[in-house]
Amino acid sequence: MTDPESVVEVADLKKQFSADDDLFNRLFGWGEPKTVKAVDGVSLDIREGEALGIAGESGCGKTTLGETLLGLTEPTAGTVRFEGEDVTDRLRTDPELRTKLQIIQQDPYQSINPRFTVFNWIKEPLDVHNIGTEAEREERVLETLELAGLRPAEAFASEYPSELSGGERQRVGIARAIVLNPSFVVADEPTSMLDVSVRAGVLDLLNRLQREMGLAVMYISHDISLLKHTCDRIAIMYLGKVVEQGPATEVINDPKHPYTQALVSSTPIVDPDESRTPIEIEGEVPDPVNLDPGCRFAPRCPAAMPECREGEPRLYDVGEQRARCILYDEELMADASPEVPPEMVSDGMKTPGNRAD
Ligand code: SF4
Repeated sequence: MTDPESVVEVADLKKQFSADDDLFNRLFGWGEPKTVKAVDGVSLDIREGEALGIAGESGCGKTTLGETLLGLTEPTAGTVRFEGEDVTDRLRTDPELRTKLQIIQQDPYQSINPRFTVFNWIKEPLDVHNIGTEAEREERVLETLELAGLRPAEAFASEYPSELSGGERQRVGIARAIVLNPSFVVADEPTSMLDVSVRAGVLDLLNRLQREMGLAVMYISHDISLLKHTCDRIAIMYLGKVVEQGPATEVINDPKHPYTQALVSSTPIVDPDESRTPIEIEGEVPDPVNLDPGCRFAPRCPAAMPECREGEPRLYDVGEQRARCILYDEELMADASPEVPPEMVSDGMKTPGNRAD
């Protein structure tokens, strides 16, 4: 049964790319096909008026996930439901559906055509989808500029991108994304190219639009501290898999998965009364074409044990969070003796020191 409030629901979504660099293998099908599982079995949902953050290192699959949900690339397997309807096969082709799914680009300097005025740039999607009369479109553009905080709208409408600051350009990008009145917006690192002084203003704007328009927003960012203040829930990805998900404050204040713990421990602390022991993650992210069996984080995990390499861990419920780590498997841990570094011990984790038996 579909949750009536879910705008987007994803079930077991997969996106694979060919990584075969040998021409003969590709042409004649020689040898084992090499694939990168950029998104590998992701299930999640985003509700009306909710912000979901997707975080993880570069190459974890977060941007591919966003592109797949927007129909910019075709999923290899799995389903995408939009407002309760299975739209997996229509994501790339249904023009009406595409008006409901929008993106806010990372780079406001490259993403706006410099030959367009602000007015024409924001009006273009209305023209392409043939929405309203000319007068209605013009009115809608001016309203949208106001909504995006570009006031007075008439003055900004006649400007060219080169006449705008980075923050103003990003507001133009936001205005173009919302002019079609979408239900779902992907914001891909929306402030990473902006001056620190204007980032908060752009995030406040996105938060306000999310609330006032009932938008479901998916933030993609490597900056986990940004997601803490912006998102209701967070999902952490590692090598194509969601390894932890839950309410934003819980995931940041009490991360359960060893990878999330290391990510959080390396973020700067703003409060001088707080302290944190940084957890070093040694080694590089493994080659995604040749992954060993078992937990994908095992080659770098300070708490890894032989059982971690026996099979892909499932997601375990740990309070309001879910973590893909066998340290939360009570049955398995009753027989194992994990040596977990003390800074990584968390509620619900089964270590020799906190077992009930
Ligand atoms: Fe580390 Fe094992 Fe948990 Fe993977 S399953 S995160 S290797 S402890």
